[in-house]
Amino acid sequence: MPTHTPHSLTLANDTPIPILGLGVWKAEDGNEVKNAVTWALEAGYRSIDTAAIYGNEEGVGAALNASAVKRSDVFLTTKIWNEDLRNDNVEQAFEASLKRLNQDYVDLLLIHWPVSGQYKNAWKHFERFYEQGRAKAIGVSNFMPEHLEDLLDSASIKPMLNQIEFHPYLQQKPTVDLCRKAGILVEAWSPLMQGSMDDPVLSSLAKKHGKSNAQIILRWDIQKEVITIPKSTNQGRIQENFNVFDFELSAEDVAQIDGLERNHRFGPDPYTFSF
Ligand code: NDP
Repeated sequence: MPTHTPHSLTLANDTPIPILGLGVWKAEDGNEVKNAVTWALEAGYRSIDTAAIYGNEEGVGAALNASAVKRSDVFLTTKIWNEDLRNDNVEQAFEASLKRLNQDYVDLLLIHWPVSGQYKNAWKHFERFYEQGRAKAIGVSNFMPEHLEDLLDSASIKPMLNQIEFHPYLQQKPTVDLCRKAGILVEAWSPLMQGSMDDPVLSSLAKKHGKSNAQIILRWDIQKEVITIPKSTNQGRIQENFNVFDFELSAEDVAQIDGLERNHRFGPDPYTFSF
């Protein structure tokens, strides 16, 4: 049995955040996302990651509100989209997200991408949402060290979390190190490399532990204290991805996965994105 399996980490404001949640990018609004959230809650997940741009906040909110699991036991994240930063529309955008989600608050609100010249202004709004209690925690996404240092220079409230692309092929050490130093939790998006997990090292560790390649990666995230939000809309895979608290990778196993780093992005580069 694992000696130490944290189910949550603690944000800088002393609020717990589950270490494993469900991501819902590309889950269609309506039954697809509602089923995914419902199956996840049944499987034990207590954290859901959506965004305005995913177009499925309504379904996410409907599934949460219909569940027997208390709202206060679930950690809900959404994100404000780039256009709303560019158009100085952050206040209205957050209001619209809350309305679609049919919620009075979210547990975590993120700036989705570091839109140049705009994110500091957006952060002022975020600080107000936090003070109003409409966002119980605030953070950023896709912020590289330069963006973080720039924001930290002027922020009254430090971002509590940075959600970045993070997986065995892209481990973002400089960003992770800076986050750790600044007390910012790191959250991994595309942890399962968008489904491309056919790697001999992962497969041999999967065989050794009697687990799947996906479970090996998610366990690696957890042991590195990186919050992880795998996406699935398939009930079996949703259950599989949560079934990672009953085994432990050795230090050598972790080092083998660390050794897979190849600076390979499946998503856009935060320095050059153009949307
Ligand atoms: P993931 O790395 O989570 O991979 C999802 C893919 O893997 C899907 O095709 C899924 O298919 C498949 N999959 C899931 N579980 C398994 C399994 N056990 N075995 C085999 N295949 C599996 O990709 P995402 O890009 O969706 O990232 C996760 C979440 O991160 C997103 O949903 C979103 O919430 C967030 N995100 C945030 C971004 C940001 O800019 N802040 C950018 C991108 C993502 P199936 O559904 O059929 O199971």
